[in-house]
Amino acid sequence: MNIHEYQAKEILNGFGIPVPRGRVALTSDQVERAAKEFGGRCVIKAQIYAGGRGKAGGVKLVHHPEQAQEFGKELFGKRLITPQTGPEGLKVRRILVEEAVEIAREFYLSITLDRNTSRYSLIASAEGGVEIEEVAKKSPEKIHVLPIDPFTGLRPYQARKIALALGLTGTVCEDCVELIQNLYRCCLEKDCSLVEINPLTVTKAGWLLAMDAKINFDDNAMFRHREYPDMMDYSQLDPLEINAGKYDLSYIKLSGNIGCMVNGAGLAMATLDVLKEFGGEPANFLDVGGGSTREKVAEAFKIILEDSDVKGVFVNIFGGIMRCDVIAQGIIEAASEVKCTLPIVVRMDGSKVEEGKQLLAESGLNVQTADTLGDGAQRIVSMLG
Ligand code: ADP
Ligand code: MG
Repeated sequence: MNIHEYQAKEILNGFGIPVPRGRVALTSDQVERAAKEFGGRCVIKAQIYAGGRGKAGGVKLVHHPEQAQEFGKELFGKRLITPQTGPEGLKVRRILVEEAVEIAREFYLSITLDRNTSRYSLIASAEGGVEIEEVAKKSPEKIHVLPIDPFTGLRPYQARKIALALGLTGTVCEDCVELIQNLYRCCLEKDCSLVEINPLTVTKAGWLLAMDAKINFDDNAMFRHREYPDMMDYSQLDPLEINAGKYDLSYIKLSGNIGCMVNGAGLAMATLDVLKEFGGEPANFLDVGGGSTREKVAEAFKIILEDSDVKGVFVNIFGGIMRCDVIAQGIIEAASEVKCTLPIVVRMDGSKVEEGKQLLAESGLNVQTADTLGDGAQRIVSMLG
């Protein structure tokens, strides 16, 4: 789960990490008032669930409250497109107004879960800021990566090693050692899959400040943090993904035109692979899970059909815990409700498969059934021709 920069900064601040003074605004008048509070000169920052805002025109230094208000007007409601948003961009509905800080140096610092080593890794670079992707690509040796042993945790000497690698000395170095340890504490206590400060800055006055902040929470730990759902900004999510979340379905939008409904993540991946093998392009990844009900199948099917990119649907379900006749009923219910005329191919096997096939055959829908995954994939691809 994602949160906004201003929320991430509040959290970091709670762990003793210094951040610039700032206020969140929901209207351009509020932007103006906040700018006045900071003496006119301030930085206006669009809050969206993506980075790369600086280069996309979503972060601007202004000098007067009127200029702040003007830029606020321009930003609110605008779709900001950055390399992380996809081509549609994300709509700006909240703006962070922050005191403008005189920056001497910009670093990169993050802690993230490394799935290869199954542990947190601390990542740091002396060349942080908006060009970090370029640094990672062109001079990867400038990025320091330190895997953290979950048993011993992050040791102070390791934090010092990183602070020194960033070229820090004296009190700023000691401050940085403390900051890194606080960042790790935050990561553990808040169950983060990522905490990123880019840039971490040393100001001209010689203070360390987290100038940008990004936090991702581990969805599997949501039950330990009842406050997290309230922090979510639904306006930043794909409406279909929100709907899928409500019904506990794993749904991920992809770029093709074949909607896929599958049970089990492994089978879903195999389905996408086989579709591709036969020249098809999946429009999504949707896993309805094991013990689904008819209602859940119907909701999943509707979510797929709501995506206007979908030109055909491929259902690939192994009826073990879930009976094939129940799946068929769910599909028929949903397809009839939304008057679906798109071609549908259903490959199912397992309990009550004959009953399921019969229900589909009598449904009046534009549906074919298949006995194997390969056969089903070929059929839907050729039906879309
Ligand atoms: P993004 O990573 O989405 O581009 P950032 O918050 O990192 O957005 O802002 C981009 C750049 O703007 C930063 O690298 C920094 O140089 C500058 N910046 C951001 N906030 C401030 C601030 N409060 N004062 C001065 N400069 C800032
Ligand atoms: Mg940044």
